[in-house]
Amino acid sequence: MTQQLLLIGSSSVGKSSLLLRFTDDTFLSADEISSTIGVDFKLKMLDHKASGRRFKLSIWDTAGQERFRTLTSSYYRGAQGVILMYDISNRETFDALNTWFTELDTFASQGVVKYVVANKTDKESARVVSKQEGQNFALSKGALFKEVSAKRNEGVQEVFDKLVDEIVARPELWNKSHQSQTSSVPGGFPSTVTLDGQNSSSWSSCSC
Ligand code: GDP
Repeated sequence: MTQQLLLIGSSSVGKSSLLLRFTDDTFLSADEISSTIGVDFKLKMLDHKASGRRFKLSIWDTAGQERFRTLTSSYYRGAQGVILMYDISNRETFDALNTWFTELDTFASQGVVKYVVANKTDKESARVVSKQEGQNFALSKGALFKEVSAKRNEGVQEVFDKLVDEIVARPELWNKSHQSQTSSVPGGFPSTVTLDGQNSSSWSSCSC
């Protein structure tokens, strides 16, 4: 069973870095990461301990398109979980979450699991958004909340574990997910991408 997850949030909050940390356990420099623009999604297998089941996660990154506010409804279609990211050292990225929630509520399925993820906790001295403020905001939006550092690999695995826990606990998402197996994934690509091997992951070079 494939679970489809999306990353959204302002440019430079660390979406690609979170994805790379989770799938490849790497952290790229600013120069290196800019060369990943145009990459859309990665696949990763996740063993869900509570159910004893193995899930294929298809995790979609905005690939820089968020800069131009050109994400379309098709990006959200079929998603079971969405990570809304901000940078604790940049208040604008936190304020922008209101707009991201509006877009998400407009386009995503009812009952989609929402997760506010505050990145760059390694920059504590530059922090401008407190943990309490982030938590209160997430609560007000009915979303989960976690602070992480993609750079230091703190909290990253927990975010994906918890996201899968929540999706598994919502059968209405499962039914939709099952239907979407034969339909489409963001960008209109077929969702029948298969993955061999246990912990492998792969970049797509889709230019949609
Ligand atoms: P995106 O535009 O949201 O995909 O953000 P990127 O993943 O491209 O990251 C933007 C910049 O933030 C890059 O220079 C990253 O190296 C940096 N960055 C990402 N995550 C972290 C983090 O956890 N801590 C710090 N200090 N920098 C980070």
